[in-house]
Amino acid sequence: MPSVPDTAIHLAGDTYVVPGLTNAGYIAGLGIDTSEDETAYEDVPLELLAITHGHADHFSIAHILHDSGARVIAARDDAAMVENPDINIRGMFSWAKPSDKMTTKLFRGIGCAVDGYIEEFNDPRATAIPLPGHTLGHHGFLTADGVLFTGDALYQRELWEQHPLPYAIDPGMVVASLERIRGVPCEWVVPAHGQPVRRTEAEEHIDFHITQVRRTAELLLHGLQDGMTTEGAVAFISRELGLVENQAVYWLAVTDVKGYLGELLGRGLIEFSVRDHVGWWQMVR
Ligand SMILES: [Zn+2]
Repeated sequence: MPSVPDTAIHLAGDTYVVPGLTNAGYIAGLGIDTSEDETAYEDVPLELLAITHGHADHFSIAHILHDSGARVIAARDDAAMVENPDINIRGMFSWAKPSDKMTTKLFRGIGCAVDGYIEEFNDPRATAIPLPGHTLGHHGFLTADGVLFTGDALYQRELWEQHPLPYAIDPGMVVASLERIRGVPCEWVVPAHGQPVRRTEAEEHIDFHITQVRRTAELLLHGLQDGMTTEGAVAFISRELGLVENQAVYWLAVTDVKGYLGELLGRGLIEFSVRDHVGWWQMVR
């Protein structure tokens, strides 16, 4: 019996899930993201670690595994955020510096040197699948045993009660990535947050996620009939979806709502103007 992380759950063939606040994968020396528990990886061979995207909860102990000799890879567009989580934190505040209170703890962490790009990943144990939308460089991984690790590209139905507006930078990309997940031939689907589910069960979660994204876009479009400021649009969506009120949730919502505004703008359904130095969004009639 080869050694695997001691908390790992066997799914199929060589593929294991290392459960945690963020689920990780382990396939015969290949890691996909990391759980937060470094003791799980003690004495476990790990020569390659692939990071799904540049949010710190997905690479919380990657720097430790890197120090122990693992080669770390990330997508080109997310690699800088893996190396320096402050880039992501500043990104959500238009590159200025927000306070800690304004930043979700999931984005705060220790960076890890990146040794190569997922775009060049060619490995018999797994295939990388671009699933952008949550971040620009977000990737999922399909293992040779038919297990699809989706990272944060898929939110299970149960998570929506806690997170009615899950973080995303581009809802159009999110939906396209969900359709891509639907088309992947696999036996298991493992989201980073939640439980591994059989492929047949995943269908319902994919549908639910797509429905929620479309519903939020329609809600915003409806709200923009008489025009709103950017600030007003953030408040409107946050109230309608019943978001918790705190600084970190507010700043995540700012990015999300801008994602929807950009999407509706790109589809020609709304227009933007500046009046008296205030940005306004208005449905096109
Ligand atoms: Zn994430």
